[in-house]
Amino acid sequence: MRDQTLCVHRPAVSQEGFASLAIPTYRASTIVFPDARSYAERKQRGPDGYSYGLHGTPTTRTLEAALTELQQGVRTALVPSGQAAIAVVMLTVLMPGDTVLVPDTAYPPATGLCENFLKPRGINYRVYDPLIGGGIADLMDPTVKLVWTESPGSTTMEVQDIPAIVAAAHRRGALVGCDNTWATPVYFKPLVHGVDFVAEALTKYVGGHSDLLMGAISVRELPLHRRLKDTMRMLGIGVSPDDASLALRGLETMGVRLAHVARVAAAFAERMADLVPPQLVLHPALPHCPGHALWKRDFSGASGVFSLLVPPDAEAAIPDLLTAAKVFSIGASWGGTHSLIAPMNVVADRRVSRNVHQGTILRISIGLEDPEDLWADLAPIVAAIAAAKPPAARLAAL
Ligand SMILES: *Cc1c(COP(=O)(O)O)cnc(C)c1O
Repeated sequence: MRDQTLCVHRPAVSQEGFASLAIPTYRASTIVFPDARSYAERKQRGPDGYSYGLHGTPTTRTLEAALTELQQGVRTALVPSGQAAIAVVMLTVLMPGDTVLVPDTAYPPATGLCENFLKPRGINYRVYDPLIGGGIADLMDPTVKLVWTESPGSTTMEVQDIPAIVAAAHRRGALVGCDNTWATPVYFKPLVHGVDFVAEALTKYVGGHSDLLMGAISVRELPLHRRLKDTMRMLGIGVSPDDASLALRGLETMGVRLAHVARVAAAFAERMADLVPPQLVLHPALPHCPGHALWKRDFSGASGVFSLLVPPDAEAAIPDLLTAAKVFSIGASWGGTHSLIAPMNVVADRRVSRNVHQGTILRISIGLEDPEDLWADLAPIVAAIAAAKPPAARLAAL
């Protein structure tokens, strides 16, 4: 063969005796076929076969298979972000005239999708109290095709009664989706509790280093996976094998990272609850937290994200204390090696919850730094909150 051809067509080399613990990064747009007949019949390969790089490579399939085993599901589909996981489930299940029920405490862009994208296309949504449990049955009507859940709730950490919601939804023929990003399948397995779709932002604990965006949807039944893959094919959605390889690397250390941040976060939450009125600390392992008993019943642990309510009298001191923090960074997202604090305000996001905290909520994500250094940043914040008058409404309600 001539030089220009040799530049393009590499010789095959032996792989005999080569065994690596790493998963190779297989990049591909084109998938080639051994003969014309298998090309003509490529559609018969189905969603588990290889037909086009966008729809899967051995790298992405390995990550999907690992997540499927952790979730105890049947298949997993990878999408470019956690938000895309939520969107692909909703776009797959819902048709014009249908309704999705969304918890008041959902990741706000999930509700934003319902309001700004689905509603103008004739798909309705209704917001429900995350603590409604089996009472969700009262909100069901024949148009409800999907009940979305997220447990614990975004920033305010309410744990939902997933089995009760699943029972009520399935009785009325609706499917149930769960955003399980906080717990990860290590600490909660929604599919085992009957949920149909579990969405995870791999961006958080699986990626684990604040440098990756990816989402995953795992399902309990095969036909649901086929429907998801159809939606993804129509929309042209897939993930890069390079990103999948980063997620596979992150997944290898996720268990020990989680165990560490879980221990530190729980210890800090307890320490804070000793120093400030305990109702100001929102961590599902604390007995006063809404849904604590459900967390004990259904979860095998708590991850490293929890929240601290700032009373009105302490508000003025917080911005400077956050700026002065030496180890914590200020930022959203979470689940990485660096500890983060995000000053949040949820009032604008809540529609049906009672006793919503009106002021700042500090959402704390514990990372892998030395806990003593982290506490040195938190101590002045906790002291400022301890010195302030507690917010009356919330304490009176509890
Ligand atoms: C971060 C997050 C998402 C979205 O994930 P992205 O990859 O950032 O789009 C969805 N749900 C929850 C609970 C999250 O924390």
